[in-house]
Amino acid sequence: MTPYDDIPAQATAATQPLLDTFARRVSYLRVSVTDRCDLRCVYCMAERMVFLPKAEVLTLEELDRVASVFIGLGVKKMRLTGGEPLVRKGFMGLVGGLSRHLGNGALEELTLTTNGTRLAQHAVELAALGLRRINVSLDTLKPDLFQTLTRGGDLAQVLAGLEAARAAGLAVKINTVALARDNAAEIPALIQWAHDLGMDLTLIETMPMGEIEADRTDQYLSLSALRDDLASYWTLEDLPLNTGGPARYVRVRETGGRLGFITPLSHNFCEACNRVRLTCTGTLHTCLGQDDATDLRAVMRDGGSDADLAEAIRTAILGKPKGHDFRIGGAPAVARHMSTTGG
Ligand code: SAM
Ligand code: SF4
Repeated sequence: MTPYDDIPAQATAATQPLLDTFARRVSYLRVSVTDRCDLRCVYCMAERMVFLPKAEVLTLEELDRVASVFIGLGVKKMRLTGGEPLVRKGFMGLVGGLSRHLGNGALEELTLTTNGTRLAQHAVELAALGLRRINVSLDTLKPDLFQTLTRGGDLAQVLAGLEAARAAGLAVKINTVALARDNAAEIPALIQWAHDLGMDLTLIETMPMGEIEADRTDQYLSLSALRDDLASYWTLEDLPLNTGGPARYVRVRETGGRLGFITPLSHNFCEACNRVRLTCTGTLHTCLGQDDATDLRAVMRDGGSDADLAEAIRTAILGKPKGHDFRIGGAPAVARHMSTTGG
């Protein structure tokens, strides 16, 4: 028996918001549905990744169940990510199932972060299931460089995916990792291209997550320096938009588009953090940059009830750390890869 057993899920959420000890309300869950991917981006994965055995990864039923318990606890926004979510078999069925929470208003937004390679096949269905916005990661518009950065990817597939998404009425935000050597000079052209097509673009600093072959320090590009450079020829107007995450937004007056900066290394965004992350193995991380972890898969596979799951989630959130501890140089702040945690 837990303190929530007698209370219907909606009432629990309404009367007991998911609060941590710093009075931050958790309303946003990112769920990684797989650690696998059809690309091998140099900053994300090792060339020869060892992927998890299937038995360790949550089944689609377990993913739906745990996500639904979070929604019962007041999570309003959910982002599905990976690895590459669209390579997970049965993924569209999961989206279809979770979309019932959009239909009844419990969930305000269901969204997706994808590399875009399989978007052309799925965009129409994603829109039909109630997704309104998606994030597509793209670091260059040069086919050769794209192939190098992703270790074998085909840019044309991603561009076709973007076309299909826009044609299906999905709002698209491009995520671009800023890499000192590889795409720094191309970034203004990428921004102009995205804005010309009516897409927002967000720049991301490389984060020290997981051991990979390359030394990230020499690819680190400070976004504050980049922002100063862009501001020397564009007018960047601060936007009040705060998503509860590490992104800050400006409007580029000359292009009319929105530009975001995700700077986990150079700015502290933790005080307004509203999010937690669930890995594809059912581990809940309440902070991207700390090693705190709660095993929700064990609760489910040991026969726990939804109330047990809810209690484990509440306990984990009470332990949400005040902030992260990322630093450039030295060992990764956390050993897990971004593809395991979900970006
Ligand atoms: N495969 C999908 C994709 O690429 O959009 C979703 C998962 S991916 C891990 C999510 C985001 O994390 C991508 O935008 C990717 O560029 C970013 N990312 C991966 N590794 C990163 C790192 N070390 N530092 C910063 N961003 C990273
Ligand atoms: Fe795959 Fe996304 Fe990681 Fe690239 S960033 S390897 S597309 S999971």
